[in-house]
Amino acid sequence: MTLFEQPVENAPREKLRDVQSQKLRELFRVVFERNRFYTEKWREAGIAPGELGSLADLAKLPFTHKSELARAQDEAPPFGTNATFPAEAYSRVHQTSGTTGRPLRVVDTPESWEWWGRCWRFVLRGAGVTPSDRVFLPFSFGPFIGFWAAVEGVRQLGAMMIPGGGWDSLERLRMMRDLGATVICCTPTYALRLAEVAREHRFEMRSIPVRALIHAGEPGANVAQTKARIEAAWNAKCFDHAGASEVGAHSFECERQPKGIHVIESEFIPEVIDPETGKKMQPGEAGELIITNLGRPGFPAIRYRTGDLVRLNLSPCACGRTFARFDGGLLGRVDDMVTIRGVNVYPTAIENLIRQFSAVDEFQVRVKTRQEMGHLEVQIEVHSGSDAEDVRMRVEQAIYRALSLRPTVTVAPAGALARFEMKARRFQRLDQG
Ligand SMILES: [Zn+2]
Repeated sequence: MTLFEQPVENAPREKLRDVQSQKLRELFRVVFERNRFYTEKWREAGIAPGELGSLADLAKLPFTHKSELARAQDEAPPFGTNATFPAEAYSRVHQTSGTTGRPLRVVDTPESWEWWGRCWRFVLRGAGVTPSDRVFLPFSFGPFIGFWAAVEGVRQLGAMMIPGGGWDSLERLRMMRDLGATVICCTPTYALRLAEVAREHRFEMRSIPVRALIHAGEPGANVAQTKARIEAAWNAKCFDHAGASEVGAHSFECERQPKGIHVIESEFIPEVIDPETGKKMQPGEAGELIITNLGRPGFPAIRYRTGDLVRLNLSPCACGRTFARFDGGLLGRVDDMVTIRGVNVYPTAIENLIRQFSAVDEFQVRVKTRQEMGHLEVQIEVHSGSDAEDVRMRVEQAIYRALSLRPTVTVAPAGALARFEMKARRFQRLDQG
């Protein structure tokens, strides 16, 4: 921890704005004329280099879409015109997980990799991780950036990192027990999967001294029922974290767990807009998160449309941090929100309803829309020993009571539904014209 860093997360908000303003000015200075993607984009919007100097100037800039970054990559493969510096300047390449569209490559310099680690330090410290912790990463170390950045954060913090790649779930459980893992970073889905494997093999979960789980990659740690289920299975606290390969590790949950995540405002500038009109939303109103990262000038994201729905909260947090919060974490994807018979339905809301039934081991949801009408189909796997028909009916009633929608709920045979190690794909939309 540097002397600079500790005060910044507790600094008065005017001080935070100074920090952002200073970093943004430096970013503009480096990017304009050097980064082909942004220079062309801004010139097309009629902006001259001298015009950009303050925080308020950010609003003059056009939004950046993921599809533009993908096109920029096609124009100048393999890294694209958003690479500000010559290729020799970069020391790492990763790519997005490609859950939406094809993967996008991202590159980092030694400095911006250091920055990823710095952001992860906020995440780890938020969860109360200290140098004496042993952090287990049950993750196959492929090109996806997420937990690689966690490794760098753990290194900077001085805790012990236990790599758990290349093992099956049972081996991982034993490794955590034998090495005394105290923290685990994984997707919420995988935390539940590990607990399920432990149950199948009569492995004693209490033999693992894990006290905190840090989750990323998908919603879950912000879904009350999923969080409660993970915390019960692991007898540990579960912390939410959000980030993206194109943007950085931008938000984390603090030890006070105020049902939301802090955005690291010393390293990012968040804005919230109406996804339809682009109009700025007020704190408390849900809208799309637009983010500008301040520590990756070699591959910047400036006014980047994340596609994530958030609700900004500027009120003070009991932990003393002055960083703004996203109430309820990431509420869902702008694209995933479906309107069924006039009701706005978010996948996280359905997940929350289904997860309250401890007898449901796994589920899948399909939304079929036809001519503005929609229908919700839910498949559940019921824990052996439970009355499947009774659980099925109760899930159906819970969804009807909460959303005033009549879903079709069916029971799938045990083990029939997909299990996930990384990002889960439990929601499917079928537009039938
Ligand atoms: Zn807090």
